[in-house]
Amino acid sequence: MSETDLAAIRGAVAKLCASFPGEYWRTLDRERRYPTEFVRALTHAGWLGCLIPEDYGGSGLGLSAAAAVLEEVHRSGGNGAACHAQMYVMGTLLRHGSEAQKRAYLPGIATGELRLQAFGVTEPTAGTDTTSLRTTAVRRGDVYVIDGQKVWTSRAEHSDLMLLLARTTPRAEAARKTDGLSVFLVDMREAVGRGLTIRPLRTMMNHATTEVFFDALEVPAAALVGEEGKGFRYILDGMNAERILIAAECVGDARWFIAKASDYAKTREVFGRPIGQNQGVQFPIARAYAATEAAALMVERAASMYERGESCGAQANMAKLLAADASWQAADTCLQTHGGFGFAEDFDVERKFRETRLYQVAPISTNLILAHLAEHVLGLPRSY
Ligand SMILES: Cc1cc2nc3c(=O)[nH]c(=O)nc-3n(C[C@H](O)[C@H](O)[C@H](O)COP(=O)(O)OP(=O)(O)OC[C@H]3O[C@@H](n4cnc5c(N)ncnc54)[C@H](O)[C@@H]3O)c2cc1C
Repeated sequence: MSETDLAAIRGAVAKLCASFPGEYWRTLDRERRYPTEFVRALTHAGWLGCLIPEDYGGSGLGLSAAAAVLEEVHRSGGNGAACHAQMYVMGTLLRHGSEAQKRAYLPGIATGELRLQAFGVTEPTAGTDTTSLRTTAVRRGDVYVIDGQKVWTSRAEHSDLMLLLARTTPRAEAARKTDGLSVFLVDMREAVGRGLTIRPLRTMMNHATTEVFFDALEVPAAALVGEEGKGFRYILDGMNAERILIAAECVGDARWFIAKASDYAKTREVFGRPIGQNQGVQFPIARAYAATEAAALMVERAASMYERGESCGAQANMAKLLAADASWQAADTCLQTHGGFGFAEDFDVERKFRETRLYQVAPISTNLILAHLAEHVLGLPRSY
């Protein structure tokens, strides 16, 4: 997609976001409420369905367009975490879902009638070691019976569908630990109260995250995505998209912090001059700016490689690492620039500071990205 087209997307999303100012997000944050109105507006404007092909009611754009949308939401002071999963799980459904699944779900997702916002991978005991997850799905005739637990299943209460990773072949019987895992598209509207229980988890920011429990939940065999036992590969595929999109959000956060810090440094006068006249104040902002622009280039590169179908694991990981570091550096600098006022709710800095901190840990922690680069790019011995 050309720079002009991406700039047009950013402009249109910025206009939409102007109707959801800091006050809107601040109130939700205080009350730990879900941004229903914002998600509805983003859906109705077509932005959340931008990755859905035109044949299924979407606009058929690529990952660069989706990254531009999410970056702009964050650059405008909002938070795409309320709805970004729909974009990053889309690749798994588009690449590996059956025609029947796509026909059944995609048009509804494009109009907003159906919400695909829950992604159930992480478990309390497995942590980052995904292949040791314990949730099982056992085939019994026309159904799979699911038992187990997920944690940090964000937006489960605000989603109709969940993309779920579960073990269909016991680890001991699988040739490799990455075999025997399968992906399901679970219709939660039918499941809640019939084997699926959702419990909200309150966190340091407004994130609508939950833990979910599966107790002999029956899902139709047709809920299986792709082939049984190949789910880990499908999910890994989708994880590159997730890393790139979240990196774009981090770039958006960093740009918001840098603009906010620069504006404040120009206008706040102490000792009879703007604080931004001091190099001790302006240099950290300039450094954060340089880090952000470098990260943005890596996000752009990873997104275009993904769109061309090239292998982009290293680039997606580096984009996520650099962008999450840049946003955290910018957040810290912005807070410091504001002095005491950085801690006041009304400035939105402390809210965004809490929100952007997540991306040092989720969806993949910094250490694990470094371990991936060390092993797969530099050829160093596997450390875990
Ligand atoms: C708010 C929030 C929302 C989330 N949303 C979702 C969601 O929607 N769906 C979902 O499936 N998951 C979700 N997650 C889970 C998230 O992806 C995980 O928290 C993340 O992958 C880290 O896993 P963990 O918390 O189990 O940490 P652990 O794996 O327990 O790791 C703990 C710490 O140890 C470090 N560590 C572990 N192993 C190594 C190693 N070998 N070398 C070096 N360091 C290591 C890690 O870097 C980390 O800092 C969410 C998490 C949060 C907090």
